[in-house]
Amino acid sequence: MALIITDECINCDVCEPACPNQAIHAGTRIYEIDPERCTECVGHFAEPQCQVICPVACIPLDPQRVETRAQLQAKFERLQAPVQEPAANGLKPVP
Ligand code: SF4
Ligand code: SF4
Repeated sequence: MALIITDECINCDVCEPACPNQAIHAGTRIYEIDPERCTECVGHFAEPQCQVICPVACIPLDPQRVETRAQLQAKFERLQAPVQEPAANGLKPVP
């Protein structure tokens, strides 16, 4: 499950740098979590770092985003994979 930031967020900004997946950013009103990047910290830490650090405890699990530990681990591994950039000459790199 990815986590979600609720309306109680006070925009204190401490969670953004604590996220190992760069999943947290300032939204238009409150901070937001990109569920495609949130692994519940699986692969990095034993506990969700944003939950641990948030002073107002406003980051619950998102019930709309149920994922197994294996799915979270797979997401972590996808996020670690190097981005394949096209070469300057436009040709794809040889695998
Ligand atoms: Fe980032 Fe971990 Fe919080 Fe997900 S649980 S948003 S990966 S700090
Ligand atoms: Fe909002 Fe909590 Fe993040 Fe602070 S730590 S910006 S209150 S979600």
